[in-house]
Amino acid sequence: MKPAPFDYVAARSTEEVLAALADGDTQVLAGGQSLVLEMNYRAARPRRLVDINRVPEFDRLDATGPALRVGPLVRHRAFGSDVVPGPLGDLLRRVVHHIAHPPIRARGTMLGSMAYAHPAAEWPTVVTALGGELHLAGPEGERTVAAEDFFTGPFTTARRPDELLAEVRLPHLPRSTAVGFAEHRRTHASFAQLAAVAAVTVTDGRVVSARIGLANAADRATRAHAAEAVLSGQPLDDAHVAAAAEAAARQDADPQPQPYADLEYQRHAIGVLVRRALRQARDGG
Ligand SMILES: Cc1cc2nc3c(=O)[nH]c(=O)nc-3n(C[C@H](O)[C@H](O)[C@H](O)COP(=O)(O)OP(=O)(O)OC[C@H]3O[C@@H](n4cnc5c(N)ncnc54)[C@H](O)[C@@H]3O)c2cc1C
Repeated sequence: MKPAPFDYVAARSTEEVLAALADGDTQVLAGGQSLVLEMNYRAARPRRLVDINRVPEFDRLDATGPALRVGPLVRHRAFGSDVVPGPLGDLLRRVVHHIAHPPIRARGTMLGSMAYAHPAAEWPTVVTALGGELHLAGPEGERTVAAEDFFTGPFTTARRPDELLAEVRLPHLPRSTAVGFAEHRRTHASFAQLAAVAAVTVTDGRVVSARIGLANAADRATRAHAAEAVLSGQPLDDAHVAAAAEAAARQDADPQPQPYADLEYQRHAIGVLVRRALRQARDGG
């Protein structure tokens, strides 16, 4: 199918993007990998698109401060390189290969994925697990929203229609942090049926910080606080890994009805994936 008729404007600055968004019925065109598909299905019928691909500074990726700062035109594939140092870079490199396939990774953007807020998408889960922040620009100025407050449901966020998602900030992880990522999906290029991300810092044999995130285990990206609490101050041994996985599956997850899996199966699979992600962090690999 072809999209419903729409107007198109190519912006060259943040001000031009915000001027276009002011009517409340204009949508940002970033990589177009989700939006154009929805328009072709006529699930989305924006009156106008504002194309941000010509705004020069939007492809900024700054790894120098305490947090990695990602602009609206940084494509998924940028995170497959060693541009981000340390454990955060390790985690992003692990995760990116699970997003769709190479042509989509070459066009789709990290911030587009956050704005789209698919419950099974990987980046929203990473930013939620790590306690990152979303930076919004709008007619009244700028504001920052914690990731856990940004994703409000399937395909819905705290972003207002007249706001641009201008930057994502992901805190760098201490050198002693080890990371893991495990995903279950139907085909190589499809969205995750379920996924788990883990970043664990162990000092003197005890967990001093555990960050665990779940994808598609609820109606939005989820931070597994109960699982993290199980690990806090404990050795990362098999017993505590199993207990954390159980807490994630029983307390943190809120699986939604799916055509391919009943709720109990989903809880079981969440436990398996959390266990795998934690063991990967502990044992490497
Ligand atoms: C076959 C297929 C498989 C896929 N598999 C996966 C997968 O496994 N994992 C995964 O995470 N994703 C997957 N995707 C989605 C892909 O990652 C998209 O690239 C991503 O969801 C959206 O990024 P985009 O830059 O293409 O955004 P667009 O499609 O341009 O925009 C998506 C939405 O976000 C809004 N938006 C975009 N950027 C901004 C901004 N800066 N500020 C405000 N609003 C904005 C748009 O207006 C639109 O509503 C898949 C897509 C396809 C077609």
